[in-house]
Amino acid sequence: MIGISACLGGALCRYDGKSQTVPRLMMLVQEGRAIMVCPEVLGGLPIPREPAEIIGGDGVTVWQDRAKVITVSGRDVTQHFKDGAVLAYQKLQKLGIDQLILKEKSPSCGSRMIYDGQFSGIKKSGVGVACAYFRQQGMQVMSDVEWLESLEEANGN
Ligand code: SF4
Repeated sequence: MIGISACLGGALCRYDGKSQTVPRLMMLVQEGRAIMVCPEVLGGLPIPREPAEIIGGDGVTVWQDRAKVITVSGRDVTQHFKDGAVLAYQKLQKLGIDQLILKEKSPSCGSRMIYDGQFSGIKKSGVGVACAYFRQQGMQVMSDVEWLESLEEANGN
């Protein structure tokens, strides 16, 4: 069993009320081989919600209290993001899951890239708040992009 970002498995939990479905991951959920978590919703944020980005760093520096998660209108939602990361971790840990496939570029789930905090559409290297927490707890995190690339490599493409 693995854990995946809920939006990758077909849940309509993104900030815009949509999913980011990866059909092969949705299939794993349907087969009972993957469990879905959405840290932002677990942290008490609604669907839909304002887009948010990490200002002044990335998920690692958020946990060091050196960066914040701010919505496009300027609301500080850092605590929601932190609470959701902890609750998602607890849910996964109870199920004995320590391998995750998370949505790239999300301020929660990003594992290699996030947006730059200016709401300009520009990406930068960095991790999201939940990803940083999961890794601090010793979990293995891979992005959806890396996972699909690894499948293609395994298929010799
Ligand atoms: S927090 Fe993660 S699971 Fe939830 S919508 Fe964002 S990327 Fe998807």
